Amino acid sequence: MRCVLITGAAGFIGSHTSLLLLNAGYKLFLLDNFSNSSPISLNRIARLSKLSNNEVKERISIIKGDIRNLSLLERTFLTAKSQGEKITSVIHFAGLKAVGESFEKALDYWETNVGGTLTLLKAMEKNDCRTIVFSSSATVYGQSTQDSLIETDPVSPINPYGATKAAIERMLTNIAGCNSHTTPKQKSPSGWRIACLRYFNPAGAHPSGEIGEDPRNIPNNLFPLINQVGVGRRESLTIFGNDWPTIDGTGIRDYVHVMDIAEGHKAALDMLMLSEPICLILNLGTGKGTSVLELIEIFKLSTGIEIKYKFGPRRMGDSAISLANPKEALKYINWKSKRTLSDICRDGWNWQTSNPKGYDDAYSKD
Ligand code: NAD
Ligand code: UDP
Repeated sequence: MRCVLITGAAGFIGSHTSLLLLNAGYKLFLLDNFSNSSPISLNRIARLSKLSNNEVKERISIIKGDIRNLSLLERTFLTAKSQGEKITSVIHFAGLKAVGESFEKALDYWETNVGGTLTLLKAMEKNDCRTIVFSSSATVYGQSTQDSLIETDPVSPINPYGATKAAIERMLTNIAGCNSHTTPKQKSPSGWRIACLRYFNPAGAHPSGEIGEDPRNIPNNLFPLINQVGVGRRESLTIFGNDWPTIDGTGIRDYVHVMDIAEGHKAALDMLMLSEPICLILNLGTGKGTSVLELIEIFKLSTGIEIKYKFGPRRMGDSAISLANPKEALKYINWKSKRTLSDICRDGWNWQTSNPKGYDDAYSKD
């Protein structure tokens, strides 16, 4: 059985990807310190998979812990061995991800994101596991242009969060023995199999409404904030600037359904397992841009809910436009987004209304 270690598995993208891989027959080691997630998401994954209790025990091991803890990571590889299995690949989601916070806590961001990844790679190397899919981000590109971004564009992050993602990409390409950190596909002379997936703006939820986005504190991202305003958890949305050089003055982003992103991970992992040692750097986005005001309008059309908003100043570290050119992902891992912005709004709203307080809902039966 294919055995994967997933770090940050209880988080937003990790939970959706874990469910997809579970249903595809993988055995999963799910590691999280729950600093930005709830363990309940892992119960829900097990429930949604429709596996029997015995199958769940066989197929899921949950490890509560930190990616900076080398001995814990080593123990995880050893546990797999003691069960007669070998962890042959890692999907690495764990990390800190708030752009604004990364200015105030730059050291924490470097320690967790870069330091944590370094520790993880050491544990992998020691255990002869050299296949990794890494959560990178469109923030590595930095300043926006009116054009869609292609992997060969300059890497030039404008905030500490993006800088940590760019540093990890460099670390991974170095380990793979590759020269370039902007070439979508390169051979790895050192024998690693690596995919850095640069997500644009993941949003939405699983269509069941059972798993979704539930950050521990006030969300930083637009989509969960719109939902929380919609459900009455927050008074109104503050739009960060109406003077950007865009059609209506608000920021343009490329929103991509979280299930499409989960499928991108499976596609990348399946490709790496079959291929010679390579390093892939790929955008995961739709190629379609949507402004904040447009998103509010589509949300209203899809859900019937009107979002109260006011305009505020621009947010530090923001850019006007961020839009993917996703053609290399189609070429190298045969992936493209399938779901629409209406699907994102419908599924996200279904999750929010089924779980108004997220996983901590007092009425939760988990
Ligand atoms: P998330 O916060 O929901 O998930 C991250 C998970 O990692 C959480 O469950 C958290 O508890 C865990 N974690 C954090 N630090 C840890 C540590 N030191 N040890 C173990 N676990 C730890 O975030 P997400 O939206 O699911 O994002 C997953 C990854 O994708 C992150 O690396 C993020 O930077 C990247 N990414 C996210 C977006 C986005 O908009 N959601 C966009 C681009 C890239
Ligand atoms: N945004 C906003 N108000 C918020 C959060 C975000 O106006 O409370 C805007 C932000 O300026 C950007 C877009 O929504 O134009 C998407 O922001 P998000 O943080 O979700 O993604 P990122 O900026 O990291 O791509």
